[in-house]
Amino acid sequence: MIIVMKAGADKREKEEVLKKIKELGYTPHVIHGTTRDVIGAIGDERGKEALQSIESMNGVESVVPILQPYKLASKEVMKESSTIRISDSVSIGGKNIVIMAGPCSVESEKQIIDSAIAVKEAGAHVLRGGAFKPRTSPYSFQGLEEDGLKLLAKARELTGLPIVTEVINPETADLVAEYADILQIGARNSQNFALLKKVGQLKRPVLLKRGMAMTIQELLMSAEYILSEGNQSVILCERGIRTFETATRNTLDLSAIPALRSRTHLPVVIDPSHGTGNHHYVGPMSLAAIAGGADGLIIEVHPDPEHATSDGPQSLKPAKFAELMVKMRRVAEAVDRTV
Ligand code: PEP
Ligand code: MN
Repeated sequence: MIIVMKAGADKREKEEVLKKIKELGYTPHVIHGTTRDVIGAIGDERGKEALQSIESMNGVESVVPILQPYKLASKEVMKESSTIRISDSVSIGGKNIVIMAGPCSVESEKQIIDSAIAVKEAGAHVLRGGAFKPRTSPYSFQGLEEDGLKLLAKARELTGLPIVTEVINPETADLVAEYADILQIGARNSQNFALLKKVGQLKRPVLLKRGMAMTIQELLMSAEYILSEGNQSVILCERGIRTFETATRNTLDLSAIPALRSRTHLPVVIDPSHGTGNHHYVGPMSLAAIAGGADGLIIEVHPDPEHATSDGPQSLKPAKFAELMVKMRRVAEAVDRTV
């Protein structure tokens, strides 16, 4: 159920409502809107009629059921899009489109620092780079792990760019959260429910990627795992799904943008690098994603893609990325956004 508070409801009235929800055996989740707060009361669906009595409490406008199975992720809970704060100067979900860029993996100090300086100069807002890598083969490079996190922190110190990096299991999640500004959950882990619950308990925004064979509804249910643990900062990411097509690494489902937009208030990011697997296709799909309403993009950029330890063929060289940034700004302007 959603308890919609009146626009002028005061703190005491809200506290009384929270207390009542708990008394009835439900967990309250406060969602701050621009004009009013709404409180999601989450728990056993069977006895939810008991919550209806809250409607007569002071400061309450209405109590309405949430029809979707993903309760807190649902647009029913909040009509307007949510804005998620990443750092003092970067937020996602507003008018500005957030560009996250950097190499697939952190490989060396020089590689990550050069990448950070290049993407910052071109105008990116967030530095990406994997320190823990979930590889399909156990024989492939698995990442520099904590040393990689330290190098990312160094790159942040130098450029001021917040960092997004992947967390691959609950055991190392606290460690990654010490360094990262955004915790990335990769496509291979997006239904790892123990991991989703763990990051739900951490106080860091989460970039949740869509699994290779995941429906939009399943993606939203995974987001719900994180939200229901108390972490309201979830960013969704479409990175291509597996289809019969072999001309691209994955099939980048750009229709996920409006499909998600109509179902959820959470911001939507597009990953054209993993979505296509080919650096020639990254530019056109980035522009299409912006035209289609994406709130952000995550793009692989490497100073020397030919020698990258992972995903070289889909990585842009810094000069190409800088050219793309210029084009992205032009398309953003056409759809009343900024980059
Ligand atoms: C990555 O971002 O480098 C990555 C492994 O992505 P995905 O989980 O989408 O494959
Ligand atoms: Mn990659």
